[in-house]
Amino acid sequence: MEKTKCLIIGSGPAGYTAAIYAARADLKPIMYEGMQPGGQLTTTTEVDNFPGYPGGIDGSAMMEDLKKQATRFGTEVRWGMVSEVDMSNRPFKAKIDDGAEIEAETIIIATGATAKYIGLESEEKFKGGGVSACATCDGFFYKGKDVAVVGGGDTAAEEATYLANMCRKVYLIHRRDELRASKAMQKRVLNTPNIEMLWDTEVKEIVGTEEGFTKALNGAIVVNNKTGKEKKIDIEGFFVAIGHTPNTGLFNDKLEMDDTGYLITKPDSTATSIPGVFASGDVQDKHFRQAITAAGTGCMAAIESERFLGEQL
Ligand code: NAP
Repeated sequence: MEKTKCLIIGSGPAGYTAAIYAARADLKPIMYEGMQPGGQLTTTTEVDNFPGYPGGIDGSAMMEDLKKQATRFGTEVRWGMVSEVDMSNRPFKAKIDDGAEIEAETIIIATGATAKYIGLESEEKFKGGGVSACATCDGFFYKGKDVAVVGGGDTAAEEATYLANMCRKVYLIHRRDELRASKAMQKRVLNTPNIEMLWDTEVKEIVGTEEGFTKALNGAIVVNNKTGKEKKIDIEGFFVAIGHTPNTGLFNDKLEMDDTGYLITKPDSTATSIPGVFASGDVQDKHFRQAITAAGTGCMAAIESERFLGEQL
C-alpha cells in the first residue's frame, strides 16, 4: 500500500497552502483535489481582498497559482476523491474513488463547503436547465436575458452585480428588508440600475417548460411574506446564493462536529478530536470563510502535522 506522511484532502486555498508548507517541510504530501479542484474560489469572479494582488485576481487564476506553488515544492497533486477514511488507528487508511488505498501518518482535511439550495421540487427539476448556484460558471448563458438571484449575503450581492454586467435585468430576491452583505457590496447592488430588489420576498415555485430532456425555465412565482401577495417574474435564469454546507460527510461519527456539521478544532489550533488529523478552511470555519483565513489555517495545519510527526519519534 502507498504510504505518505501527510495526506491532504481537498484543494481550495486551505488545501494548497497546507501543501506548500507541508512540502517545504519535506513531508512529501499527497493531495486529492476532490470534486471541485481549486474549491469554491474557482466559481467566484474577482478576488479583491487577498493580500498581494493590488489589482485583484480571478479566483481560478489564483488557485492555479497556488497549485503551481504547491507542486513546485514537491506536492503530489492528484485528481480524485477520497471515498472512505479509517482513522481508528495510526497510520490512518484512506480509500480513493479509483480503488487505490493509502496509508497516512497525518491527515489534513480541507474539503470546504458546498452551496445550499432552497429545497423546492421545481428548483431540483430545473437544475442544469436554468437553475444554478454559480453565476460565474453559468452567467454567460444568460447574456442579454432577465435572471434572478436569491439571497441577501455577500455571495448573492456579488452574483447579482456580476450578472448585471451581462444580463438585461437582475432581480435580487431577499426574504428580509435588509441585506446581510457588507456595506460596500450593498452599495454596489443598490447603485446598479438594472438590479431590482424584491424585499421580504420568498420563492414559491420555479416555472418553465419541459419537452423530453429539454427544460426551459421561464419564470418564478414569488410571494411577499409581509403582504402575502404573489406574482410571477419573467426570468430565464435562477441563481441560488443562500449559503453553504460543510463537506464533512466522510467524517460522520468519526470526528467531532458542531450541530451544523462543521468540524470542531481545538482553540488556536487545527487539531480535530483525533490526534494527527487536522482541519483547515471552510470545513471548520463558519465565521470568517475567507480565502485568506482558509489559507492561514492551511498553514497552521501543515505546521501542526510536522510538529505532531516530530513528537512521535
Ligand atoms: P451568508 O452570509 O450565510 O448569507 C446567506 C443569505 O441567504 C442570507 O441573506 C440569508 O438570509 C439567505 N438565506 C439563507 N437560507 C435561505 C433560504 N432557505 N431561503 C432564502 N434565503 C435564504 O452566505 P454567503 O453570502 O454565501 O456568504 C458566506 C460568507 O462568505 C460570508 O461570511 C461572506 O461575507 C463571505 N463572502 C465574502 C465575499 C467577498 O468578500 N468577496 C464573497 C462571497 C462571500 P438572512 O439574511 O435572512 O439570514
